[in-house]
Amino acid sequence: MSTNIIKSQSDTRQYKHITLANKMQILMVSDPEADKSAASLDVKVGCSLDPKPLYGTAHFLEHMLFMGTEKYPSENEYTEFIKNNGGSDNAFTSLTDTNYYFDISNEAFAEALERFSHFFKKPLLGESSTEREMKAVDSEFNQSLQSDAWRYFAVMQENCNPEGLLNRFNCGNLESLKQDGIRDALLEFHKKWYSANIMKLCVVSNKSIDELETLVNELFNEVPNHDVVVPNLGEPAPLLPSDLGQLYKFVPVKDKDILNLYWVLPYSQLEHRSQPLKYFSNLFGHEGENSILSYLISEGLALELSSGYDHELWNFSCFYVDITLTRKGLENVERVIESVFTYAHNIKAKGVQDYIFDEIKRVGEINFTFADKSGPQRYALRLAGKMQTFEGDDLPYILQHSYIADVFDKPRIEQMLDLMLDYKNLNIFIRSKSLESICDREDRWYKTKYSRQSFSEEMIRIISSPNVPINKKQLDYPPPNNLLPKDLDVLEANQAHSARPILVQQWNETDLWYKKDDKFKRPKAIVEMKLYTNDCMFGRTAHARVFIEVWNNMLKETLREFNYTASMAELETTTSVYHDNVNFVWNGYNDSLPVFVVETLQRVKSFRVEDYKETFDQVKEKLLQEWHNFYLEQTYIQAYSNFENIIVSGAYEKRTLRNILENFTHEDLISVSKDWLKSGRTLWFVDGNISKDSAISLVEKAREILQIRPVDKEDLVDIRCIALPAQQTQLLEVPLQDKTNENSCLVSYFEVGLEANDIRKKLTHQVVMQYLDEPTFNQLRTIEQLGYVVFARSSSFRDVIGSRFIVQSPGQSCEYIVNSLNTLLNVQRQKVKELSDEDFKTQVDSVMTKIAEKDYNLNSEHSRLWGEISTHKYVFDRQEKEIEILKTLTKQQFQDHFEKTFFIDRKRLDYELTSEKHKEGQEEWKAKNLAAYYPNAEERVQVEVSLQTFKKQMSLHPDLFKASYASFKM
Ligand SMILES: [Zn+2]
Repeated sequence: MSTNIIKSQSDTRQYKHITLANKMQILMVSDPEADKSAASLDVKVGCSLDPKPLYGTAHFLEHMLFMGTEKYPSENEYTEFIKNNGGSDNAFTSLTDTNYYFDISNEAFAEALERFSHFFKKPLLGESSTEREMKAVDSEFNQSLQSDAWRYFAVMQENCNPEGLLNRFNCGNLESLKQDGIRDALLEFHKKWYSANIMKLCVVSNKSIDELETLVNELFNEVPNHDVVVPNLGEPAPLLPSDLGQLYKFVPVKDKDILNLYWVLPYSQLEHRSQPLKYFSNLFGHEGENSILSYLISEGLALELSSGYDHELWNFSCFYVDITLTRKGLENVERVIESVFTYAHNIKAKGVQDYIFDEIKRVGEINFTFADKSGPQRYALRLAGKMQTFEGDDLPYILQHSYIADVFDKPRIEQMLDLMLDYKNLNIFIRSKSLESICDREDRWYKTKYSRQSFSEEMIRIISSPNVPINKKQLDYPPPNNLLPKDLDVLEANQAHSARPILVQQWNETDLWYKKDDKFKRPKAIVEMKLYTNDCMFGRTAHARVFIEVWNNMLKETLREFNYTASMAELETTTSVYHDNVNFVWNGYNDSLPVFVVETLQRVKSFRVEDYKETFDQVKEKLLQEWHNFYLEQTYIQAYSNFENIIVSGAYEKRTLRNILENFTHEDLISVSKDWLKSGRTLWFVDGNISKDSAISLVEKAREILQIRPVDKEDLVDIRCIALPAQQTQLLEVPLQDKTNENSCLVSYFEVGLEANDIRKKLTHQVVMQYLDEPTFNQLRTIEQLGYVVFARSSSFRDVIGSRFIVQSPGQSCEYIVNSLNTLLNVQRQKVKELSDEDFKTQVDSVMTKIAEKDYNLNSEHSRLWGEISTHKYVFDRQEKEIEILKTLTKQQFQDHFEKTFFIDRKRLDYELTSEKHKEGQEEWKAKNLAAYYPNAEERVQVEVSLQTFKKQMSLHPDLFKASYASFKM
């Protein structure tokens, strides 16, 4: 049966839905423009159906399906095939679903899909892989211990009805899975639940619908169907009446105080035309005039707020409001809760408003009409999941659902609001490190300390008849939004302006690049501007960096109401601080975009830090917290993102910034800001459905507002990357600050050197890293099980190319990992020497597939082109050039590059974040490694100084970006 799926007028793809003989439902999407194909298969079973007490079975099975099938028994066969053909793959397990997905080159799609189909026919679930892969699940659990979101969810789950299916341990670990008979349990689970009648498959490809239909019929018809019936997951009830009206307090890992309000409401997932909870997420999550957040901030009680809804177990819906509190907010948390309920009661008193629904509907319709395309993998993944709810009569709405709620179900909205005002439908969670002493319970798996009590009389009063004093801000409906776009015409094509970006005008201090869009044909545009400046020693000192970060955060806060209202009309703006520049982006419907840009800049220019003492205090508190919490992140996140601070000038560690900010006062800020935004240069790129004349007049207006005194390009500060000495390995060992985190992480960096527009060198390196990616994962993760996070990537810092191997391990020290990595590289050295021509070609082709990837929408095209402009390389036809060069790349060049990078010329830096637990093993393995790999002790140098000093001791590469900026002629 084929169904008429409603698609937007700008959507050129074809859709067809079929049901195979085995009852598997399949949605085929044919897109002749797709440069990659993708598939996603969703099984309507998740961890809520884990057999007790083998928690984690569904998730473990998900891992195991990647470990070989009867037809393709080799453990890494599938992933290797995907990676060798320019693709990627992954999977996830939720309470109700398990989803597998991949993308790959169009040419290899049929073969990949064939391999994929065996996951669901005859997986191997080999005994030895079962033993080992269990450790990957355990490592994954171990790393989730750093996540407060998981801890929050675990406390909630532990306190649900013990008989119900929400009371589960989703991830699983060795304790829950290392049981006799686990392999049988996996087989049993697969046999019972992996039934075609509860599977939904979505494929997206350049193939025609007919071709796809033949293909999926051939491959998936044999997936067994047991006509399994997914039981009602809401029986027994997941939450009993006694599980609600509860106040929880718990101790998080990160030092951040958060209030969560969690309402349990009637199931509304199937009401996709009206989506009653959308009305509330729109209001409660509002950050503009009259909103809860504006009120809380003006009272100094909160820093951030988010709100939304979800559906659980195909059984109930939940609505939540999450508020990040200030210290004052935590001390007065009842008042924060009372503010939320004052707002809710005010809404109730005024009644459900037509204009709010109309705005939601209007924006939704515009967004659907001009929806941007996303990549095939994301698209397949999203649709396969949705297919579980959009069946039969609902199927035609599957595409428009994410955008449009077009039926105004006022009584249902009113009913939901009444339920939200009843404390018996609510749980409240407060998390703060300061609550430790009052927490008398500990959850079973995460060992989170918490307490639980029924709402007090006072809490019930706060919820049922709240009354907070209204001073500066109202708690009310937002005013109507007059930024909604009116003119949605698309301009005539203009080949002269749309082929590539052109430098259309230069002023003393400003360069304007412009490109008109003729490809995506949406009434949208993007304006991006970089402000380079030496004001206040920016780019030269950590003090300056702290000042700019504070200034930028305060600016954001003062623009919040304005920006939020704009964002409701799909006009987005962000400001980011980089080492030597502040980057502004405006993105949205071109109709109101120029007004939006001008308005923002006027506010930026007239922003006086003197007038915002309270905002300063709040921003300071927030940044101190963020920079402190960074060291409580998962180890590999710390290692990965701190790495740049080690090797690039003008980049500073969070602890350095934090130390400065501790003593930074509002007076300091006022005094520094006097010299800020006075001189510099701006670099613009205006792109999209906008004429050249409008672009020029927009930038002229901006110049008038900003009044920036020009600085010569040659005088802008250089940002430079360190140059590692050849034939040497630097060892930079840093103890992990968080003593409770057991995971160590190694970043092993190999520098290649300046790219300097030597595209061939860069590409050769890319092919080498493409070649190493799979064996690294297979050896260090699948075989040795060093940890869940294992990857090898090429990197580029200020035009210096290199590669990073990253391994995070809960079980082994960094030096142990170094040993494994060195062994791996030695094995690969031999393999590279013996590499067949065919295998070499496979690697080159895979890189080609990745490079050839097209831009899916204006945003992805824009960021690619802006990358060329802002690094001052201007190779706009890079894709074509690179593919031509790749065609001529020889195996000898590849082999030489490998040998030079990892052996003969080796310039290596081992950055090791070592946990308390691994201290001992670390020393032992360090000695072993010295003996085994570094016969001359001077080949491995242990860095004994601070990072800043280390950076000073190293020579530096030139800043080629700035050099090219200065020498570029129109
Ligand atoms: Zn997993």
